[in-house]
Amino acid sequence: MILSGSLQAQRNCGSEAYRSELVQNNPAAAQSIQAAELQIKSTLLKNKLVARRDTSANELINIPVVVHVLYNNAGQNISETQILSQLTALNKDFSNQNSDKINRPLVFDNVAADARIRFCLAQVAPDGRPAKGIIRKQTSMAVFAADDAVKSSMRGGDDAWDSKKYLNIWVCNLGGRTLGYASLPGGPADLDGVVIGFDVFGTVGNLRPQFNKGRTLTHEVGHWLGVKHIWGDTECGDDEADDTPRQRTYNFGCPSFPAVSACSETADGDMFMNFMDFSDDACMNMFTIEQKKRMRALFATGNLRNSFLTSMACDSTLVQGGPVAVDTVTAPVAVKQDVYSMYPNPASSFVTVEYKPAMALIKKSFAVYTITGVKVVSSELTQEKTRVSLSYLKQGIYIVRLGEGNDTVTMKIVKQ
Ligand SMILES: [Zn+2]
Repeated sequence: MILSGSLQAQRNCGSEAYRSELVQNNPAAAQSIQAAELQIKSTLLKNKLVARRDTSANELINIPVVVHVLYNNAGQNISETQILSQLTALNKDFSNQNSDKINRPLVFDNVAADARIRFCLAQVAPDGRPAKGIIRKQTSMAVFAADDAVKSSMRGGDDAWDSKKYLNIWVCNLGGRTLGYASLPGGPADLDGVVIGFDVFGTVGNLRPQFNKGRTLTHEVGHWLGVKHIWGDTECGDDEADDTPRQRTYNFGCPSFPAVSACSETADGDMFMNFMDFSDDACMNMFTIEQKKRMRALFATGNLRNSFLTSMACDSTLVQGGPVAVDTVTAPVAVKQDVYSMYPNPASSFVTVEYKPAMALIKKSFAVYTITGVKVVSSELTQEKTRVSLSYLKQGIYIVRLGEGNDTVTMKIVKQ
């Protein structure tokens, strides 16, 4: 695998995989994500009809942020300085104040936009008490997958704050090649927000060199605000922003201008410096006017993120009562359970019982009962797979009991 070194160093965003898994498994979420997309489209159309450039006449939109830091070791418990550096970078990127904007070619600079969206660490907690916008929790999870466990206190993560008023950002040790992933507008409310690796978050701290300018969060918050990958997630696809040129696929590393691809419409080629491409942090530096319009359409009256316009959590004068505790909460250890499976079922002469123990202890009892409670088979599981003979049982339904006491698992089996 000659390419593995450079593949490791490439940006990888999990948002599209996350979206497609969610819409496959959760029809309600699929419907509501589609509804959010229609909201954006119809608002854009309405704004066009009244010749307005975007929602609410360009008023500044303030988004209160709560950062959930889940750490398994001290290195993952990132400093407040690192968190603040990320907020600063995010605000610069969304306001077109990032100093590296000078690197853009003029043709793309002409469509660059200040989204007029700003982010603050929440000053007010959901219960009205003063907050820092940072929650720290030690977790037993050495590594998190892109499966939303980090968003659940029961699974070793931390529950979201009200996602109608706060942008939830979970910072953790995110496994695999994924740097981060975002939920799209319209996803389940308790899963709404962005998950990001602790080593690609902020501009100071122990960061991966290609991803040390806070752009992973800028990109993921772009998704959270309904902006799509610039190549439209398919070859020469459409990202629904008319001022980003069509491009064949994603760029990575640091391309040089012009980067012309198979479906470039002009000699200017790909807008690889757009935050929604996969270029390295040092080589992305802009959102466009049309991307900005998509983001802001979400905040129009009646639309999905409109509730943020009345969120007061950025204003520290509105607090009531004492401060919420910080740095003191420990996430519960994720509950591990033994996992059994049994096949075939119905069975004729043999059944195979598979058993994955949560703890190192291996032996488990295995018994088969008739439905009137008479024990007819008694055995022991001593390894991962045990084959048990059922040849002398009569045809019918039997009850299988695995383990003892509180750990007992009961299953039905049909003998043919
Ligand atoms: Zn992405």
